[in-house]
This record gives sequence, structure tokens and C-alpha cells, in this order.
Amino acid sequence: MKRALFGGLALALLLTGCGTQSSEAQIFAMNTFMTLTVHSPHAREDVKAATALINQLDRELSVTRPESEVWALNHADGNPVEVSSDTAALLKAALELGEKTSGALDVTLYPVVKAWGFTTDEHQVPGEETLSALLEGVDYSAVSLIEGEDGAAVTLPQGIELDFGALAKGYAGEVCADLLRDSGVTSALLRLGGNIQTIGARPDGKPWMIGVQDPSRPDDPDAVLGSLAIVDQAAVTSGGYQRYFEQGGVRYWHIIDPSTGSPARSGLSSVTIVADSGTLCDGLSTALFVMGREKALDFWRQEGGFEAVLVEDSGEVWITAGLSEAFTPAGESTYTLHIAEA
Ligand code: ADP
Ligand code: MG
Repeated sequence: MKRALFGGLALALLLTGCGTQSSEAQIFAMNTFMTLTVHSPHAREDVKAATALINQLDRELSVTRPESEVWALNHADGNPVEVSSDTAALLKAALELGEKTSGALDVTLYPVVKAWGFTTDEHQVPGEETLSALLEGVDYSAVSLIEGEDGAAVTLPQGIELDFGALAKGYAGEVCADLLRDSGVTSALLRLGGNIQTIGARPDGKPWMIGVQDPSRPDDPDAVLGSLAIVDQAAVTSGGYQRYFEQGGVRYWHIIDPSTGSPARSGLSSVTIVADSGTLCDGLSTALFVMGREKALDFWRQEGGFEAVLVEDSGEVWITAGLSEAFTPAGESTYTLHIAEA
């Protein structure tokens, strides 16, 4: 029903001063509702181009569409498959992040994700033997990506399947921003579900204000624990509250710890990452959720290149030093804030 409402491309166009238009589209792609808002002299065309790009990426990268490149890879029986530059670029980023995060992000986790039913919504708790058998095949380092002058080829060993669910929306936001910047856009807000990508500042020159959802009140989008002032960057949140099912009074969510094959119970209820690259934000929001607060902050201190807001189940919130100015706490909040120093 909701899908039908948003399925079509709804375009709203407003004319503002100085030849600048504002155009907005609401689309359903990558299993998520998205809102693309662009302010530019050719906003309507810009929004259409960004929409077309997202739909193209959805067709290439979807793990459930039989016409996608990911589907072809997962059904290649160990044979090499030629892939588009987008699939190659995203896989490259995913493998590098797998390495950097010591496997906390592992795109070959797909058979495990499937066993929990997260891609089909036929949820179930797999048995321990099933999980340990499936985990044997989970290994991002076994994926071979060969890039040549004429394109790229990927080989997955028999039994290995991959899924870009942890990074695809971040990548989509990032390449849309590149496309829009190339066409001269200097102000845009792209909401791809919980993934935010901004270009420049708001038309009035002020930063975009991005709410950080209160993980204990997921059904109320206005329930934020604070907001982040963002300019020209991406902000991505991963949380156990975003997609889950309950069985026997236990909640099971869609972010899986590759070392156990079960939902990551690291003491974190959400992780928000802010950085220039949407792909990095999306990959790290998932990986740092798996790591938990201490390892996540160590990782931030060692690697740098991003900032984070970590929300713990206990109600403690850790804001990395680079966001201390950008973060404004909500008026009434039961959370205790800490600034993490480098
Ligand atoms: P969302 O899709 O809600 O934005 P994430 O970006 O955190 O959430 O990605 C979660 C998705 O990524 C899961 O639905 C699953 O397909 C996949 N996934 C879950 N855990 C991992 C992991 N540790 N490494 C790689 N992919 C994962
Ligand atoms: Mg992610």
C-alpha cells in the first residue's frame, strides 16, 4: 500500500528567487523510502537524473533481483563474472573496509543473513549447527576482484555469496552527490532511508540539521536525542531498532556479528557515522555497531577520517571530538553525553 503510494515518481517543483528551483522526489528503491531534494537552476532535471541513477544501482546491486549483477555473482558456481564499474568500485570499498575492520564488516555474510530470513522477511532463529556450517563459508578475503583496462571481473569461490546491504545505500548517496555536483548543484539533501547525503549547505547558507533518532523510540521520527549540523557530508545511522523480529521475548536484529553469525549484541543501540564518503559512513556504521563502544572508539582513534555518535543500551552517548560543535542535544533527553577525545 505504502509502496504503491510512493512507487511513482512524485515531483514537486517550486520556483524561488535568482533562477534557483527547488525540486523534490519521493521514491521507493533499495527496499527503502527515499526523498531527494535539490536546489539549483535545473533542479527538476537534476532530481530526475539522480532518481535514474539510484534505480540503475538498485537493478545492479540488489541481492534479491534475478537480473542484478550480485545475483549473477551469487549464482556463478565459482566462475568469473564481468561486472560494471559501480559493482567493482563498491566491492573494492567493501573488501578494503572488511580488511580495516578485521572482518566486522563482511559482505560474504549473506548466507547467514538469509538463514535469519532478513532478506525475505520470513524470519527464523537458525540452529547453532546451521550457523556454524554457514560461517565456514563466510570470508571476504576469498573474493577475487580483478580490474583491467576493459573492465572488472569478480570470482566467488563455490558456496560464497555476497550482499551489499550494509553499504549500497551509502554508495548510492555518494555517487548521486558526485553526479549532482558535476552538473553544478551546490545545495541538496538526499535521504536514502536512514542514510543522509548532503551537498553543500541549505539554500539559506545554514548547515543541514540531521536528527539522530532516539533508538528507544523508533516509531516516532521526531524523537531524536540530538541533531548534527552537516555541510557537504554524509551521515549514516545503523541501529538494532531499524529492522528486527521478536521470538520467545527476544529481539533479533539485522546487524550480524560475523564472528558468531548472530545479531551483534555489543551494548550499542545505534551508531551514526559522519564523513565525506557515504560508502565509508554506511560500511562503518554497520562495522562499528558490531565492534561495540570501546573497540569502535579505538578504531576511530587509529584510523580517523570520520566522526561518530555511539548510543549505548545503557543510555550513554559518545560523541567523537570532531562533532562536539556540530552536535546539539535535544531539549528533553534521558541520555548522558560524553565527548570522546582523540
Ligand atoms: P540498513 O540496511 O538498515 O541501513 P546497515 O547499513 O547496518 O542497515 O546494513 C545491514 C544489512 O547489511 C543487513 O540487512 C545485512 O544484509 C547486511 N549485514 C548485516 N551484518 C553485516 C556485517 N557484519 N557485515 C556486512 N553486512 C552485514
Ligand atoms: Mg551500513
